[in-house]
Amino acid sequence: MFERLASQKESLIRTSTDCLRALFSAKFYAILILVASQLSLFVSSTSANTTVNSTRIWPASEYTRLTLESDAPINYSLILLKNPDRVVLDLIDVTLTSEIKKLPGKVSADNLYIRALRVGQFKLGVLRLVLDLKSEVKPQAFILKPVGDYGHRLVLDIYPTSPPDPLMALINEGTIKSAQASASQHIQSDRKSKTTIAGNKEPSSAIRVITVAIDPGHGGEDPGAVSKRGTYEKNITLAIARKLKAKIDAEPNMRAALTRDGDYFLSLPMRLEKARRLKADLFVSIHADAFVKPHARGSSVFTLSERGATSAASRWLAKKENDADLIGGVNLDTKDPYLNKTLLDLSLSQTREDSHTLAREVLSKIGEINHLHKSHVEQAGFAVLKSPDIPSILVETAFISNPNEERKLLKKSYQNKMAQAVLDGIKRYFSKNPPLSRSKIVSSAP
Ligand SMILES: [Zn+2]
Repeated sequence: MFERLASQKESLIRTSTDCLRALFSAKFYAILILVASQLSLFVSSTSANTTVNSTRIWPASEYTRLTLESDAPINYSLILLKNPDRVVLDLIDVTLTSEIKKLPGKVSADNLYIRALRVGQFKLGVLRLVLDLKSEVKPQAFILKPVGDYGHRLVLDIYPTSPPDPLMALINEGTIKSAQASASQHIQSDRKSKTTIAGNKEPSSAIRVITVAIDPGHGGEDPGAVSKRGTYEKNITLAIARKLKAKIDAEPNMRAALTRDGDYFLSLPMRLEKARRLKADLFVSIHADAFVKPHARGSSVFTLSERGATSAASRWLAKKENDADLIGGVNLDTKDPYLNKTLLDLSLSQTREDSHTLAREVLSKIGEINHLHKSHVEQAGFAVLKSPDIPSILVETAFISNPNEERKLLKKSYQNKMAQAVLDGIKRYFSKNPPLSRSKIVSSAP
């Protein structure tokens, strides 16, 4: 009885897969990459059409994101075509509105991956977007549920098949070349001094180029905190981060790289991954705080808490910052496993200690230019601080929700002062803690 049932079931499955195979091979000379889990095979033909209210394209060097915001979840299917390279996104029961017709005009000529975009009614009930590509890509599509001011979103991310190497990009920057040269010089002289003066622990000969990963919080679909006047945290963080990078690059033995240098979404694991690939000595995440009460003010510097957050307020803040991936949108199915691995490796107490020392130096320098929210370094469970081997801090530069501090944050002079204070803190940290241990990693890098 059981056997018969099982074989009946098997033949049913075979029939349906054969049927699908026949359908697809006949219909498309293509590879079907993914049929959305949302694509219900039982959608009734009388179901109401979905309306797309807003369309956005976020171009970046890492990837291009296309977002369709709608009043209900969109059923879709994604197809990758070769010769020439194209991505086809079929939207089921979506009305062709003027908003969708605007999409082709939103692809700029300098987009790294998309040459052109076409929209058309493919057949009854299927609206087709065709992206003509400049090179081979890895597309990913997924649905985001409504959150904050956003409604239902269908996200299409176009990734290059081989991601750009952030370290190579840094080396290719003209200003960095001289720093690289001096780095190898220092490493050579370091080696020489070791052979001649055995056991000498003088750190002076170990000066080498220090790499700082600067992480401007939020971006793209994730604006971060938004003030009553409509100032976005994501723009403030990028402005301060760029100033900090310029100041660091001007130092003879330092260089900096931004985890994002534009207005686009970058997931928290991707930020960590970038710092790791840069072989960064430090990770500094820049944010601007917000609180429900407008009088909350002052700067804070955070490190990762060992277990949970030290106070209810920092727990609340950590939750808000960690929600970035929820708001900005990460395809959870293909999420980088790096973060999970990191969580297991968190026992490295040296990194924790270094993070805390760095945070103290930066906080004390910021204290010279702004009121401090708390007189000590705070701790919270920020996902972005979870690199096991890179001392990491998160700077809440000021409260964007406080009208006085918001005005300051918008001023170039204050942004410069803040960047300078962070740099001064970093320099003081390195003057007391020369980066000896990682020089081997840098010199062995190809
Ligand atoms: Zn933030």
